[in-house]
Amino acid sequence: MTKPVIGITADEVQNKKFSWHPTYYGQCHNYTDAIIRAGGIPVVIPQTNNPRVFKDLIAKLDGLVLAGGADINPTLYGEKPYATTDRGTDKRDKVELYLLEKFLQTDKPILAICRGMHLLNVHYGGTLYQDIPLDLTTTINHKKSTHAQDSSLVVHPIRVKPDSRLAEILGQKSVYVNSRHHQAIKKLASSLEPTAWAEDKIIEAVEIKDGRFILGIQAHPEDLEAKTITQWRKIFKSFVHASQENSLVYTK
Ligand code: MN
Repeated sequence: MTKPVIGITADEVQNKKFSWHPTYYGQCHNYTDAIIRAGGIPVVIPQTNNPRVFKDLIAKLDGLVLAGGADINPTLYGEKPYATTDRGTDKRDKVELYLLEKFLQTDKPILAICRGMHLLNVHYGGTLYQDIPLDLTTTINHKKSTHAQDSSLVVHPIRVKPDSRLAEILGQKSVYVNSRHHQAIKKLASSLEPTAWAEDKIIEAVEIKDGRFILGIQAHPEDLEAKTITQWRKIFKSFVHASQENSLVYTK
């Protein structure tokens, strides 16, 4: 059986040794490793504005990971950026929103991680808290894994909605997650439903209401998976499996 091909969105990365070198399109290897371990073939997607390339690429992909990264430009959801907003590039925002729009037309599975989940919400008309410490009162440090410089450090539990896809995958009502985000969903897009919350009621996972495999998670399961925390491996297995099933439907 042919393994499903999974696209992973890339960041622009500066070569620290040769700063004069053109930037790279790259992504943390925990994403590619997790997809490989789950039985898929990962492909890191270059940031291009060529619609023809995306059309042909999307046709070859069986699933898409919207990876984590810097903050989305708040003007995309109608807000002025705070001084504390960790702005990414407009190029990445534009490329990912275009890719997402086109990919959603195919009904193929999407796993949206951290920034990816925020992007999904913004795509469907939702908004974000730009900076949790400024916008909300909470005792949870949602950036603790970053501050500890340990991406797999588990920080807080999430309560998982029963009967959700996430609950079905994890088989648990409550699970600890790493946390390295300072933004969160403010207005949830009407196409999405929340399927996990932190104890301070911050939304930690979403799913699409129409039943497709479109799962957003604010934590970084790829870092937990790398530490062989088995329930997080299930996320990638389930996603890769759904991508495989989808590809079989499409080739019939
Ligand atoms: Mn969190």
